[in-house]
Amino acid sequence: MIDLHSHTDYSDGALSPAELLELARREGLDAFAITDHDTLAGYDLLATPEERQPEVIRGIEVTCDLNGRPAHLLGYFLRGDPGESFRRWLELRHEQRRERNRRLVRRLQSLGASVELEEVEALGKSMTGRPHFARVLVSKGYVDSYEEAFHRYIGEHGAAYVPPEAPSLAEGIARVNEAGGVSSLAHPVRLGPAFNEQALGSLARAGLRALEVFHSDHSIEDSSRYLEMARRHDLAVTGGSDFHGPIKPRVRLGGERVENWVLDSLRERFG
Ligand code: AMP
Ligand code: FE
Ligand code: FE
Ligand code: ZN
Repeated sequence: MIDLHSHTDYSDGALSPAELLELARREGLDAFAITDHDTLAGYDLLATPEERQPEVIRGIEVTCDLNGRPAHLLGYFLRGDPGESFRRWLELRHEQRRERNRRLVRRLQSLGASVELEEVEALGKSMTGRPHFARVLVSKGYVDSYEEAFHRYIGEHGAAYVPPEAPSLAEGIARVNEAGGVSSLAHPVRLGPAFNEQALGSLARAGLRALEVFHSDHSIEDSSRYLEMARRHDLAVTGGSDFHGPIKPRVRLGGERVENWVLDSLRERFG
């Protein structure tokens, strides 16, 4: 069993890379991918030797834009380091996030929630995003829960919402592919009606290599529909839980029970 989608505390997960590795071992996984939002720092820290059990795959989840809505793109670097130019491109993502975070702080302050950029950034080891804002809003008592923070303030329909500034999905796909990665569209169910046969066709023409078929937000029906769609567009398949730790208690590492053939066939096609 494998899990190709998980987060460490280098983005918005709760566990350190070493703790995640230990959990994967306890869950009996053969391999798992660290796919932190817009950063490779968590994976880099493990500097995993080839013979490590379970095997750790270097991955990333880049926030992109699809027609004005956020869309997440996974990248898997099966052959090793993506290289300097990709890492520089990630630095630009961080600068965009910083600017957006400043705007979020201003909006929250204007709504009477006194939050400082410094205290939010103190929670984010290598990238700071809305989950860190949610934690600060909870700890300062402006809301009772993480979910309420999104609902009232920073979620898409919240009063302080600021959309991410992100590259287009086509640009993300090109960057991941150029860096030798396998690009895979994450949790398509979250794209809603914007995700259909035609949209997938044009992403496939833009170079998309895979579709995340198995995911904790997908019903069994969703997964079989996405599997069919991937086959029709000659895309590879990826899958994982999207584990974040106790912040999302319903999601378990390895919980999607993704079979090893998923990774084997990625390696056959792109390794
Ligand atoms: P950001 O990349 O800064 O826009 O933050 C996006 C992250 O916030 C997602 O990956 C989720 O982990 C989290 N998130 C977004 N919307 C919600 C929500 N409504 N409830 C809980 N978490 C959310
Ligand atoms: Fe996340
Ligand atoms: Fe995601
Ligand atoms: Zn994720």
